[in-house]
Amino acid sequence: MDCLFCKIVSGEIPSKKVYEDDRVYAFYDIAPAAPTHVLVVPKKHIDGVDAVNAENASEVAYIFTVIPKIAESLGLKGGYRVVSNVGADAGQTVRHIHFHILGGKELGRMC
Ligand code: 5GP
Ligand code: ZN
Repeated sequence: MDCLFCKIVSGEIPSKKVYEDDRVYAFYDIAPAAPTHVLVVPKKHIDGVDAVNAENASEVAYIFTVIPKIAESLGLKGGYRVVSNVGADAGQTVRHIHFHILGGKELGRMC
């Protein structure tokens, strides 16, 4: 499968790693939208939130147990935002489910 984030997970494309275990990989976004901007992805390919189902939901649930640990390791004591864009209207550019962790400043309200 020609998937950018599968290639990042496998190491074929380099990235700046923040966290890794057997199911999850997290790395700095190449074009940060906040002082701290990290992407968290499951190693197992899932297209997006719109492709979560009974079979793969455990990967997403697991990611949400890891995200607070990553945020703590990043020192985001004042809080942070978790975002997942889905489809064209939201501007999803990579069809491998990912969760943006954004923080490091007061983020303001969402659009
Ligand atoms: P989306 O727009 O799909 O919600 O998020 C994709 C994110 O991946 C964007 O924030 C973009 O900056 C980031 N991105 C795209 N290509 C690369 C890459 O090669 N390396 C890294 N680290 N981030 C990337
Ligand atoms: Zn993938």
